[in-house]
Amino acid sequence: MSIVEQLKNSEVVGFRQHFHAYPELSNSEEKTAEYIVKFLSNFEGLEFAKGVAGHGVVVDINAPGATKTLLMRADMDALPIEEKNNVTYKSRNKGIMHACGHDAHMAILMGVIKSLMAQADKLKVNVRFVFQPAEEGGGGAANMIKAGVLGDNVVAAIALHMFPDIPCGMIGLKKGAIMASVDEFVLTMNGVGGHGATPEKTSVLPYVASQVVNGLYSMVPRKFAPTENSLLSVTSIDCKSSNNVMPTECVIEGSMRNFTNYARDLMPVYAEQFVGCTCAGLDVDYKFDVARLYPPLINNGAMVDELEKVVHKMAKPYYLDAPLMISEDFAFFAEYVPSVFALLGCGNKAKGINKPLHSDEFNIDEDSLDIGVKMLVQFALNFK
Ligand SMILES: [Zn+2]
Ligand SMILES: [Zn+2]
Repeated sequence: MSIVEQLKNSEVVGFRQHFHAYPELSNSEEKTAEYIVKFLSNFEGLEFAKGVAGHGVVVDINAPGATKTLLMRADMDALPIEEKNNVTYKSRNKGIMHACGHDAHMAILMGVIKSLMAQADKLKVNVRFVFQPAEEGGGGAANMIKAGVLGDNVVAAIALHMFPDIPCGMIGLKKGAIMASVDEFVLTMNGVGGHGATPEKTSVLPYVASQVVNGLYSMVPRKFAPTENSLLSVTSIDCKSSNNVMPTECVIEGSMRNFTNYARDLMPVYAEQFVGCTCAGLDVDYKFDVARLYPPLINNGAMVDELEKVVHKMAKPYYLDAPLMISEDFAFFAEYVPSVFALLGCGNKAKGINKPLHSDEFNIDEDSLDIGVKMLVQFALNFK
């Protein structure tokens, strides 16, 4: 029996259930980090740093004489969701839940560390494990990179994400773009308010808002090729008024998602151009603010090929024919070094495990944890 097989699946399940029971929000992953550090302290000679970019933990397993480093990343944070699952390891922290599988990501990485510590002599590269805080909107990956986790020697990066739409036993793979960029906008329009009976004396901001929303939706297919698969969503229109008062302010909010940096950079420019023309024509002042969040997540083809070889040995590949509109800040790592982000199938309809990510009933088939550990261990051992 190999050392990989000797690693008890139940131990990784235990790590995951502990994290699940004690979830912490973005940038508050203090106890989570403590639990990881306590685990790491069991290994004599294992190098690690804590408190990196907040509560991040960085661990190095060095191969004798190696100059290259492979980076593996797990995110640490949970979501502001009240858990509805009735399980023994249900969240003990009210209103907080690991509903995106980050508990599993950390547990898997701990399993990989344990396994590779027992066979570090077989590694041809160093492996750096990054436990990253604040994935859910806190910009944790970018902060870890700023803190220097890529160093001079990291040449490649890999991460997994639990994915309930894919059955346990299968791994979602895709070359090129696998997830979208995400940027958010807030458009604030100001005009003359007044009585609903005298619209000619006001800016009729609700009408202006309707023109702007229509225009933004027609802008995407006008300006971007259908093959770009770009998306602009208006998610809120708030005129803060009542049925006989014309407002003085209207705020429109939404998000923009793209699979290329080309489309990502141009979308806010086109959007503001349209907003500017419409507002100028209708005598309304405006402010268009954009928060750039995560870039598109682009998988390196050669890295996907390497992972696919491993996948065939312990699971079945699930080839995604289209990228996903959701976003992931692992994209920041992928901007710097050739990277692969794979989806670890964790759904199981027969066991009733089929709720989506971020659902208050999200759960995983824990058999997927073992597959995740074995896959990353083998990937690291193969990597040259
Ligand atoms: Zn999430
Ligand atoms: Zn996630």
